[in-house]
Amino acid sequence: MKTFCGRANPTTGSMEWLEEGEDYDYHQEIARSRYADMLHDKDRNVKYYQGIRAAVSRVKERGEKAIVLDIGTGTGLLSMMAASAGADFCYAIEVFKPMANAAVKIVEKNGFSDKIKVINKHSTEVTVGPDGDMQCRANILVTELFDTELIGEGALPTYEHAHKYLVQEGCEAVPHRATVYVQLVESRRMWSWKKLFPVHVEAEDGEKILVPPSEMENCPGLPSVCDIQLNQMPSSDFSTLSDVVKMFSVDFSKPVQSASTCYRVQLEPVKSGKAQIVLSWWDIDMDPSGMINCSMAPYWVKPTSALQWRDHWMQCVYFLPREEPVLQGEKLSLTACRDEYSVWYNLQKARAEEEEHKADVCVESPVCRCRAHLLWNRPRFGELNDQSRTRQYIESLRKVLKTDSVCLCISDGSLLPVLAHYLGAKQVQHAGSGCMQPSRIDLYHPHELWQAFFKANNLEDKIKIIEARPELLKPSHLEDKKISVLVGEPFFTTSLLPWHNLYFWYARTAVSSHLASNVTVLPQSASLHMMIVQFQDLWRIRSPCGICEGFDVRTMDDMIKDSLNFRESKEAEPHPLWEYPCKSLSEPQEVLTFDFTKTVPQHCLSTEGSVKLLRKGKSHGAVLWMEYHLTADISVSTGLMQLSNEKGNCEWNPHCKQAVYFFSSVIESEILSDPTAVTYDIKFDTKTGEIAMDFKL
Ligand code: SAH
Repeated sequence: MKTFCGRANPTTGSMEWLEEGEDYDYHQEIARSRYADMLHDKDRNVKYYQGIRAAVSRVKERGEKAIVLDIGTGTGLLSMMAASAGADFCYAIEVFKPMANAAVKIVEKNGFSDKIKVINKHSTEVTVGPDGDMQCRANILVTELFDTELIGEGALPTYEHAHKYLVQEGCEAVPHRATVYVQLVESRRMWSWKKLFPVHVEAEDGEKILVPPSEMENCPGLPSVCDIQLNQMPSSDFSTLSDVVKMFSVDFSKPVQSASTCYRVQLEPVKSGKAQIVLSWWDIDMDPSGMINCSMAPYWVKPTSALQWRDHWMQCVYFLPREEPVLQGEKLSLTACRDEYSVWYNLQKARAEEEEHKADVCVESPVCRCRAHLLWNRPRFGELNDQSRTRQYIESLRKVLKTDSVCLCISDGSLLPVLAHYLGAKQVQHAGSGCMQPSRIDLYHPHELWQAFFKANNLEDKIKIIEARPELLKPSHLEDKKISVLVGEPFFTTSLLPWHNLYFWYARTAVSSHLASNVTVLPQSASLHMMIVQFQDLWRIRSPCGICEGFDVRTMDDMIKDSLNFRESKEAEPHPLWEYPCKSLSEPQEVLTFDFTKTVPQHCLSTEGSVKLLRKGKSHGAVLWMEYHLTADISVSTGLMQLSNEKGNCEWNPHCKQAVYFFSSVIESEILSDPTAVTYDIKFDTKTGEIAMDFKL
């Protein structure tokens, strides 16, 4: 069997289908899975174990046999906990074949083969009866099917089915209940992920304000959840307008309904402000008493209790459809609507009693109407709204634009053409300063978005969108003019790793014949930077677990290692490091440079060298990022923004993902008088646009 995997080619910017062996998908899934992170989640594991022991005892006290159904067994961990706690028999259901196979091995290795039956099926396919998968219905239901939004992995339909067909009435459930909490906040930072703020430009003839079209102003955005490590959001970046409120609960020991529904709570703001965001998280009570509680509450909610770091469950940021000014003490009602898999929110000023009943409570799931949310993801909105970044672009455009400039912009969904127009010369307006948004993505048509955008700013005939790929650019697109200023951010929606935005360089190469001999390219160059770091927590996602709550899960560790080695060993992975604190152990180092004033060379660009570990710590890996040199003296970094020298604390660009290359073994540096050196070998393959790297102690 062959698998085809879609991947953007950074040299052409287009999607290509690569043929992969049948193991490919499976290795991808394992290598990038959250199993390691879950096994390292001590708080979760301990509480599941406590809850399972309590449930088994309750059943035994009633004089019944304890028959466990574990849906989504993964490594088999929760079933092994149940068996150890004295359960008579466990049915461990796992839909993902490689995991079900691993569970069989792990269960056997730990000596539970006679107590645990692993069934490789989706729970809704499981049969009960003398010839069925299960001999009888279970009286203990154990699951861990939750994502950050609680229901996004299909917990509700799975529970609904299990109660109908697989468990007894009055069964014990671990967890017993989940509760979703919300808090209303105002936050310019988070709100900047949802809509475009007006952009102020100091032009020759006075201040220009670039405004988003009205459709964008009131667009509800996308239904996909925005999940983040909220504990990395400093309290100065938001202001809480309400107390923490319980939004809704689900009792897993009773029949569960997955059909769409709404929940409503009354709120009184503790402070006046602009209601923009609903922050949300959940907790699970492992037993009915509520004494065994596992909570995702962020740091400011229970400041005294120790926080467990985890990446498989974070917190959610929901954007209200529109900003609502609220007054302290005013009566508000907040509605949470959900379908089977997702949740969205709405805020209303409380209405009179009678009206309350009439009110159609449920609001449709958010769908982007303005098209901007299809073009820009949330970090990209944040980037476009970053004023200091915009200022740097304005500053550099001002330096390079002349009154007769013919300007071409190559980037996805960039505001640079508009900025260039405001800063540029009057004379070229009608001659058409070209704006090229290469139409590499066929899923949506940004053209209409731009039309609306230009219309809102009276720019309809000032900027031309060329819907042609760079290599297909013709002199007629440019009205037979040569390009004197070529600009880019560079930003392309298909880029996964920082260097994939070097597509700008390939595009620049493709349009070479249209460039004037004295063309200015902005950015003029880019550089790749590298630093060795110790992660505070992120290391857990790739680190073997060994023994988890007394159970040997090394089979899983080996499986993850094999999958990482299968393809990924020489590859870096993208992570937004503002969410994942680390300290630098080496100086940041420039390792490669890319000269955009020249075309992409035929040969590979490679570099070898060594980097000294200057601070004591564990070298978990290397971080790599790009810096763009807009002009000789203005640069923007998509990675490191600041480094504090004493401790090595790093501040990362909050809008970008950096590349992380995890070392296969951790290097512990101790002696500072004779610093250890790590050697590196980094190669940019100009044929593929990919970077391969290798590090050695
Ligand atoms: N129970 C394990 C693993 C949890 S991850 C632990 O707590 O460590 C959830 C697992 O459930 C995944 O392996 C996924 O493949 C599986 N899964 C999700 N829904 C399922 C369903 N309805 N039936 C069977 N397996 C399911």
